[in-house]
Amino acid sequence: MAGDMNREPRYTEEMREWVNERWDPAGDLVGWRTELARSGWGNPSWPTEWFGRNLPPSSEAVCRQILHDAGAVGMASGVSTYLVAPTLLEWATDEQRDQFLLPILTGAHKWCQLFSEPGAGSDLASLATRAERDGDEWVISGQKVWNSGAQKADFGILLARTNNDSSKHQGISFFLIPMQQAAVEVRPLHQMNGHSSFNEVFLDEARVPAANLISQEGDGWRVALTTLAHERSAVATPRPKFPVNESPLVKAAKREADEYFATYSWYPQRAGRPKLVLPQARNLGRQNDPLVRNLVAQIEELRRTSVWTTKRASAARRAGRPPGPEGSVAKLNMSVTAKKSARAHSTILGTHGVLTGTSVTPNELIAEVLVSTPAQSIAGGTDEIQKNIIGERVLGLPKEPKGNTDE
Ligand SMILES: Cc1cc2nc3c(=O)[nH]c(=O)nc-3n(C[C@H](O)[C@H](O)[C@H](O)COP(=O)(O)OP(=O)(O)OC[C@H]3O[C@@H](n4cnc5c(N)ncnc54)[C@H](O)[C@@H]3O)c2cc1C
Repeated sequence: MAGDMNREPRYTEEMREWVNERWDPAGDLVGWRTELARSGWGNPSWPTEWFGRNLPPSSEAVCRQILHDAGAVGMASGVSTYLVAPTLLEWATDEQRDQFLLPILTGAHKWCQLFSEPGAGSDLASLATRAERDGDEWVISGQKVWNSGAQKADFGILLARTNNDSSKHQGISFFLIPMQQAAVEVRPLHQMNGHSSFNEVFLDEARVPAANLISQEGDGWRVALTTLAHERSAVATPRPKFPVNESPLVKAAKREADEYFATYSWYPQRAGRPKLVLPQARNLGRQNDPLVRNLVAQIEELRRTSVWTTKRASAARRAGRPPGPEGSVAKLNMSVTAKKSARAHSTILGTHGVLTGTSVTPNELIAEVLVSTPAQSIAGGTDEIQKNIIGERVLGLPKEPKGNTDE
């Protein structure tokens, strides 16, 4: 039995042969990724007719490793692939998938998410950005905020109100908006940790082709729920691992990733750097302090339960179930871990923890942790909202009173 479990899945040999035959390190990045996408080996769990092979989700990691072992690079990564692509796979027409999926996979097009507004975050359905039909186009005006990566995006997934008369959820539509137009103004926001990863986006009669409406007019809320479920369950978008060789194609992929992930360089600090807690405690001789030991134990407890939740979520995916409330449990776990880690770091370092500068011991990373972890409790749905989801959908508690909302 153990032998069976260790056996490689049957498709691995076929993929290795394909990669050995086709990988050309001197080629160009988009050309290689186009070939990889068309072969289905770049996203093996996707449907066969859309750049995949209908293999189980576990095949994604297996195939990435095969590419890595062959010295080859895989598909583009980021918001485009983990939020936009799954939404399009579920809701877009074949024409829309034909137009948008391949440039997402090759990295030719970068995307951002234009959902939140100054008056609509947790209560997203209160959004006020308007879209009006004008012939073959929609004309969009309003303001979005906290839009990560919008300063570099070619397209955005955008929610706008198309009907003021129907209930607030039913009046929303989901659009794919080209960002490179004069009517879209992107203004970076300066964060308290010194980075500028998200933006305000002002739309002043921006134009969107009618063909870029996803699903029906007024059906945008249901489409957005798919995006949000993927956002909660995607715990993070890690920078891909690159093979250790200096081929032009690998260098091009690294350059692309460096540029993309520069926006998110503070995300590991946002997660609290839990793995640094114990080494820091040992380095500074605080490992026997009962308060520190208690915090280290709590962080380890959270890490272990998070592994189990992730396993449960992958088992649910393997069984063909869409992302469910376990995404909220995982997300809340990450927030609690981040907060506890920040507390442990400051307990260990005391006032030194707030110092910045290269001469600081151990280094300025911890100061960045302390001012970045609050974002973990907000991005992708706040802790309180995750608790509501867990209370209502997992524990079966009565629904929160909705006041003037129409849910
Ligand atoms: C790092 C980061 C990246 C982000 N990236 C994007 C992006 O790319 N695109 C995008 O569109 N948005 C993005 N956001 C925005 C994010 O989705 C919103 O900030 C989030 O949904 C919360 O909305 P809000 O900021 O308006 O807070 P509010 O909704 O105003 O909440 C304020 C407080 O009230 C609490 N609260 C609200 N409603 C309830 C309730 N019903 N019950 C109990 N408590 C409640 C909240 O938990 C919070 O503590 C990002 C945010 C961060 C921090």
